[in-house]
Amino acid sequence: MDKAPRFVLERVFVEYLEDHPKLKEYFKNVEILQTEKLRQLVLKYISAESYNKIVQEIFSHLKITDDGKLVIPDVPTYIQGSGRTSRMFGMRLTKGVSILFEEDDTIFESLKSRLMFLLDEEWMEENEVDFESLMEEVKESRKIQNNDFYQIDTKSRLMIVESPTKADTISKFLEKASTRRYGKLSVYESITPEGILLITASKGHVYDLETKKGLHGVEYHDGKFIPYYNSIKRCMKCNTQFTDELDSCPKCASNTIEDKKEILKTLRELALEVDEVLIATDPDVEGEKISWDISQYIKPANSNIKRIEMHEITRLWT
Ligand SMILES: [Zn+2]
Repeated sequence: MDKAPRFVLERVFVEYLEDHPKLKEYFKNVEILQTEKLRQLVLKYISAESYNKIVQEIFSHLKITDDGKLVIPDVPTYIQGSGRTSRMFGMRLTKGVSILFEEDDTIFESLKSRLMFLLDEEWMEENEVDFESLMEEVKESRKIQNNDFYQIDTKSRLMIVESPTKADTISKFLEKASTRRYGKLSVYESITPEGILLITASKGHVYDLETKKGLHGVEYHDGKFIPYYNSIKRCMKCNTQFTDELDSCPKCASNTIEDKKEILKTLRELALEVDEVLIATDPDVEGEKISWDISQYIKPANSNIKRIEMHEITRLWT
């Protein structure tokens, strides 16, 4: 009850009022009550026992854990994930196969019933599927229906540029790019004749010299210069940038700090998902440095990294 989301509280309270006409008369507009007010009312009128009973009744198709948590299937994520297997291409739909590993019958049934209203899905047990003929069907749908049997490339690529504005501009050139949020990054996703393209921005530099070690981050040993690099941190309050590992801003002591490490981690996770990474930072010294830093960080996840240079983005008038 303490943490139940609004839609649960509302449904439970409305259900409770059905059996209590006098109260119902008093609380006519449950839907306009503030969430916290609603929570107080539920706590005041409904015992934990009858609350659980009502929840079980209303959400009988959903799973409720022993400690009273409601487990809900993640429909948008399923659609997003399975949608990657098939595409609208050249005015046709290419087919795909999505395999779902279910851990829990109740949640699976609930997902199925929810999807029923949205999609025309056919579910099969793994042992009912003839994978060979299924894959033939998929391959067939991916052939361009011309005389030349040119296969659509389903390779996936991640393109990393420096500024979010540039990522946005490039995405506008692509067919129906959709945006997704990954951690602190916005990622544009589009299908091109060469495959799936994800575009995102590193938001500038990611590493710089630490200031605490050596002289401005460089130590001198036996005729060698050793630089110490660390991820760039930025204070969200006063905008100060620093590289040392500090818990608070060295200038204003604020704790709200954005660390480029988070962006790098997200880039590395994205790199894991794709076949190839294209680093398209600016073709200048700064861009080269950013490109090097990013490539070093994501290499363990995906070593298929290419550096591309974009010198100009021009409008094509047709
Ligand atoms: Zn600060």
